[in-house]
Amino acid sequence: MRRAGYFVILIIKMNNSEDRLLSVVVPIYNERVGLPDFHAALWRSLHDDVGEPFEIIYVDDGSTDDTAELVRKWHAEDTNVRLLSLSRNFGKENALSAGIAAARGKAIISLDGDGQHPPELIPKFVEAWRNGAQVVIGVRSGKSAANLSKRVGSSLFYKLFNKMTGQKLLPGSTDYRLLDQAVRRPFLELTETDRITRGLIDWLGFKRQYINFNPHDRQQGTPGYGYRKLLGLATNSFVSLTLAPLYVFGYLGVIITFLAFLLGSAVLIEQILLDDPWHWKFTGTAMLGILIIFLVGIVLMSQGILSLYISHLHNQSKRRPLYVIDYHASAGIREHGED
Ligand code: UDP
Ligand code: MG
Repeated sequence: MRRAGYFVILIIKMNNSEDRLLSVVVPIYNERVGLPDFHAALWRSLHDDVGEPFEIIYVDDGSTDDTAELVRKWHAEDTNVRLLSLSRNFGKENALSAGIAAARGKAIISLDGDGQHPPELIPKFVEAWRNGAQVVIGVRSGKSAANLSKRVGSSLFYKLFNKMTGQKLLPGSTDYRLLDQAVRRPFLELTETDRITRGLIDWLGFKRQYINFNPHDRQQGTPGYGYRKLLGLATNSFVSLTLAPLYVFGYLGVIITFLAFLLGSAVLIEQILLDDPWHWKFTGTAMLGILIIFLVGIVLMSQGILSLYISHLHNQSKRRPLYVIDYHASAGIREHGED
């Protein structure tokens, strides 16, 4: 009897649409003008092309126009649309995290609300996920719409970043992504501030697949990310994901001290002990110069040692989990991420 009861529950569970729910997270900031077109395209793609139950979570990142009112209207007509309003502008990275935390689906798709990430591609993301990928990443291909200086800056950033962190951040990889629910939970455990969502997701690992796409032009307005914000984003990525810059000066100190020591010793022996057989004719000022360089080297080295301690504190303060479990199979437990 009890068995039969379980079966009924199982069957109900299997038919339960919640089990196939897709969540779409869209951070929006002052997108009033372009949003209706974007929403229509997104809705079409989800409803007509994917055909699974879905929820669209618009995260209003403190818009100062009436973007939020618009979404509220849609929500009143269609419960598939949800609105998460942040109390002020927290920046896209944080808005994205808020949306991922609120998502209830088996898979979570994030994309920009300015029309640059074509919603028509969502079926491709879902298909890659159904074929076993846990993280599907949209990669910008073709000619970037950004101007030369932004392009050069971004290519420089990726080169430096990959070299220094040992991580492989693909140039052009975007926030147009799909996350399996198994990735959501460990992602939410990353509580550090100054976050770069892309970098954190890459840090988490899991089975990945890449989808190339040509970004559209922005539907309206100017991108919220000007040079200053982009530079901030780049520095944040470095500071949160690599400690290499901290060590550079320590290494420099070691080299400088070593060279100054060699030079100083040579001068000392040749000039003072042997009475200048090779006629170097080192003046007192030059010797003072060598002494100062030697001391500068020592100061830099001690700075490097301080960095070791700072980096220790830095890592500790991020409170990242020590490891992330993808799958656990043992007696009685057989599940993906969520329990
Ligand atoms: N956005 C946001 N908060 C911000 C800036 C932007 O939520 O402070 C949203 C914006 O509405 C858009 C997405 O993040 O949906 C990408 O922003 P944007 O187009 O300005 O950036 P870019 O395309 O240059 O990466
Ligand atoms: Mg954009």
